[in-house]
Amino acid sequence: MHKNFKGIEKTVFGRGSFNQLGDIIAPHRRENNRYMVFIVDNYFKGKDLESRLPLLPEDTVYFIDVDPHEPTTEQIDTLRDEILATKGLPSGIIGIGGGAIMDIAKCVSLMVTNEGSSTLYQGLDLIKVPGIYHVGVPTISGTGAEVSMTAVLTGPEKKLGLKCEWTVFNQVILDPDLIATVPRDWWFYVGMDTYIHCIESENGQFNNAYSHAYAEQSMKLCREIYLGENSGQTTENDDKLMVASLMGGLSLTYSEVGICHAISYGLSKILGMRHCYSNCIAFNHLADYYPEGVAEFKEMVAKHNITLPQGLSKDWTDAQINAMAHVSYKLDHMWNHAVGYDWKEKVTIEDIEAIFRRL
Ligand code: NAD
Ligand code: ZN
Repeated sequence: MHKNFKGIEKTVFGRGSFNQLGDIIAPHRRENNRYMVFIVDNYFKGKDLESRLPLLPEDTVYFIDVDPHEPTTEQIDTLRDEILATKGLPSGIIGIGGGAIMDIAKCVSLMVTNEGSSTLYQGLDLIKVPGIYHVGVPTISGTGAEVSMTAVLTGPEKKLGLKCEWTVFNQVILDPDLIATVPRDWWFYVGMDTYIHCIESENGQFNNAYSHAYAEQSMKLCREIYLGENSGQTTENDDKLMVASLMGGLSLTYSEVGICHAISYGLSKILGMRHCYSNCIAFNHLADYYPEGVAEFKEMVAKHNITLPQGLSKDWTDAQINAMAHVSYKLDHMWNHAVGYDWKEKVTIEDIEAIFRRL
């Protein structure tokens, strides 16, 4: 069976395209209880963007601080309950922020129509009925969350996405002006998430002509942004990074991520380390799996004077390392892709623990 994926329904790209948001959502305002919910990264509170939100008096705005932790099932359930209890079913959800806000917006759009806790739906195609209209406006580029079919949540038992056709945004607005203020270190870590998506998508059994074409183009853009003669956080490179993120996401959708993401999920679930940062921490030590990718990654790290900590594992207990290895081991689809269907004959929990001990 080949994957049959739904893509974003509508995409607008360009500087200043954020100004079209009001017109874009207008026709949808007649749906359900006739109000929109804006979910905005708290970074923008009090900033110019706040005054540019196309709000009507009936709308609700939530500013969410994504820094304490990645989105959780409990956080989504609470937000969903509050939204429904206050004004009933909204016409749509508009998420404005990074990967965390993209995922929160996607999840809330699904959970307002699906009963019970979001923990019930962590996995593939578990959502029972379509969610509501939702729009993604990324303000930091790299995770590909704006285009992906999944919305990652950390729950009491697992870190796993709500993954189904209805997760995908109905509309995405790509306005490179919005990512200009991203701090330099995050610009690097998040961009590397895109680069790692491509390397992992390419290096595994599910790679194919379709995923390869996206990865190739996305990596070309990453090289211009992080290694080229005009590398750095410039307006021109911000245009490219927005597109690279999207294409990296499309590449892995048609293929799969691999070992770096399997390790990274362990770090995030057990230590609360952020996705893109933990990818960088892990990828730095995966030269035996991805020799060319890791060598080029190290060039980018050096070029931008990024300091990646080493020797972290000396502060981790055996129990923590074992728990992280178990989180990774459960990500069957990633190991399948990277190592093969017989991966369990080749990779043991002890081998995965050994990878964590390198970090
Ligand atoms: P993020 O959403 O965690 O934000 C990182 C930081 O950047 C925050 O402090 C935020 O306030 C700040 N920020 C955002 N936009 C800014 C701007 N324009 N200027 C200044 N600061 C800004 O960042 P992320 O790395 O994009 O997302 C990580 C999350 O994405 C994780 O929760 C991860 O699980 C999820 N993720 C999802 C997918 C998916 O396919 N759904 C894929 C990868 C990662
Ligand atoms: Zn990633």
